[in-house]
Amino acid sequence: MTYSVKEIYFTLQGEGAHTGRAAVFLRFSGCNLWSGREQHRDAAICKFCDTDFVGVDGPGGGKFAAARELASAVSRAWGDNAAADRKYVVCTGGEPLLQLDAAAIDAFHDAGFEVGVETNGTIAAPGGIDWLCVSPKADAAVVQQSGSELKLVYPQSEDEAQPDQFADMSFEYFFLQPCDDENLDANTRAVVDYCLRYPQWRLSLQTHKILGID
Ligand code: SF4
Repeated sequence: MTYSVKEIYFTLQGEGAHTGRAAVFLRFSGCNLWSGREQHRDAAICKFCDTDFVGVDGPGGGKFAAARELASAVSRAWGDNAAADRKYVVCTGGEPLLQLDAAAIDAFHDAGFEVGVETNGTIAAPGGIDWLCVSPKADAAVVQQSGSELKLVYPQSEDEAQPDQFADMSFEYFFLQPCDDENLDANTRAVVDYCLRYPQWRLSLQTHKILGID
């Protein structure tokens, strides 16, 4: 399989339960809920995306002809930046499960990485993932109903992606993350209010944006 990758870079995880953890971010190209082109945003299922996942032209991006080649690129990104005993790769996108397969997961493990995935939940996840984050979008059916954390951008709309739709799914953690649009302050207050009323849910902030970290 050839993997199409927008970018690969070393940073801190900014969101969710692993906030602050050193990680290689592996951003796969493409998504099944939006083309990534602005002219298609209004017609997309997911309309609030803040990520450029089009093409393979970002730092460390490219086409990788085999899983070992991809794992080598991830290893190079970790490099000498940090100690080698807690290596962590976050597979994101776009929608990483359009491409991430058992061969890639095995290759990451062989290279000494724990494997995290951030998915919109519309595709069943392969086995072997160490940390699975599902982030439902709009009215897209959630196929992957179990994992490590469910992280919901909130609010999305009045009748779509409401927290109580997901509260009975099988996740260790449930996060609400304020939608980063022109109403961010009001959205943040709405998340705080919801988490105060329903303690199953915790606040997740996009700390990388707050701190200006890529
Ligand atoms: S599902 Fe994720 S990557 Fe795809 S358009 Fe929505 S926010 Fe962006």
